[in-house]
Amino acid sequence: MSKCIRDNARCSGCGVCRQVCPKGAISLRVDAKGFPRPAVGDNCIDCGLCVRHCHEHKRFDGYRVQKAFTAYSNDPDIRAVSSSGGMFTALAVKVIEDGGFVCASGFDGDFVLRHRIIDTIEQLDGLRKSKYLESDMSSVWQELKQRVASGRKGLFVGTPCQCSALRSFLGDKIDDIIVCDFICHGVASPLVFEKYKDYLKSKYGGPVKIEFRHKEKGEGSFFYYEGTDGSCMIPNYKESYPFAYASGLIIADDCTSCSYCKLERYGDITLGDYVSGPTDYAKSTIFANTRKGSDILYQCRDITLQEEDLEDVVGKSWHLTAANTFNPDRQKVFDRLDLPWDLLEKRYFHPAGRLRLYKKALINKLRRFLSR
Ligand SMILES: Cc1cc2nc3c(=O)[nH]c(=O)nc-3n(C[C@H](O)[C@H](O)[C@H](O)COP(=O)(O)OP(=O)(O)OC[C@H]3O[C@@H](n4cnc5c(N)ncnc54)[C@H](O)[C@@H]3O)c2cc1C
Repeated sequence: MSKCIRDNARCSGCGVCRQVCPKGAISLRVDAKGFPRPAVGDNCIDCGLCVRHCHEHKRFDGYRVQKAFTAYSNDPDIRAVSSSGGMFTALAVKVIEDGGFVCASGFDGDFVLRHRIIDTIEQLDGLRKSKYLESDMSSVWQELKQRVASGRKGLFVGTPCQCSALRSFLGDKIDDIIVCDFICHGVASPLVFEKYKDYLKSKYGGPVKIEFRHKEKGEGSFFYYEGTDGSCMIPNYKESYPFAYASGLIIADDCTSCSYCKLERYGDITLGDYVSGPTDYAKSTIFANTRKGSDILYQCRDITLQEEDLEDVVGKSWHLTAANTFNPDRQKVFDRLDLPWDLLEKRYFHPAGRLRLYKKALINKLRRFLSR
């Protein structure tokens, strides 16, 4: 059997295999669903380094969630520009003020989502808020390695699989980094997002600002697009892309049966939403999974931090332990990405189709049950 990473259905596209390949035999190619995934060239020598560094083949244990908190920034302006309570900002400010760097995900000038590394509080602007698609990490690996090798401390925020990949890549050097994962609903295809962006561009002009968690009148679940010729602000459940994402129609293969939805975490801290009302995102849920994670939380300033009952908060944090529900129409959507967005919307994404999808899923479930 080949020792090289090939046909890995559980691949999350972190690209660590490419970084560690001594022959430069691995490249990332966009697959049919629009996710960059590794392709192995003929110069592969089957050394097995890629498999040994793949987080899906990890040989290290995670940390078990230890403490649960609800928390929020005391500054309403920070909460307004954050997905929930602004705890990412509080952690990032603490790390930067102590001389560290922050590595998190933001749109670049072309509205392509990438991780990047910053050193100042002003640069946090583009990194805040949740973006519902896969973030490209390829440009940060080597810089992260150099920074930790020179003794720099930092904060890393990413999906649970990205945090596990970071641990696999940095090994013991990860001790200098505060690793922060989040409760994760999954990540959508960058290609589908490109199609959606093109559609919005045709209606409102080229993108100036895109937000999946725009906050308006105390509610935090609006999709917001600002273009050069106009803008729109629509409740997420009514808009096609957020609807498709939430229904599991455009998420990555590995997200449909995510192996990271469990109480064993690869971050020192796990962030999430604490929703007390139907659309109110004023507080963050936080789990401290290590001593390092719990220490930094107590050191953050200008926040309100309240320790909660661990079992109670675990019970309320659905995707902490449960992967996204499998949607039987997902493959059909990916098979018809050649269709223009408005047709995709009518056929698969329009909220009116929601009932139809639920009905189908229910019938499938019933069929599976009866055939047992
Ligand atoms: C794709 C995704 C799915 C999520 N699913 C859930 C869920 O099901 N349940 C739940 O309780 N919480 C979920 N969250 C977490 C939640 O939306 C907030 O990120 C969390 O409440 C922290 O909010 P905040 O106000 O403290 O920080 P914010 O200021 O909103 O910061 C968010 C942080 O996440 C990083 N980030 C944003 N998008 C991505 C991305 N695509 N990939 C990697 N990093 C990213 C940002 O760079 C930033 O560091 C999800 C987040 C994302 C990105």
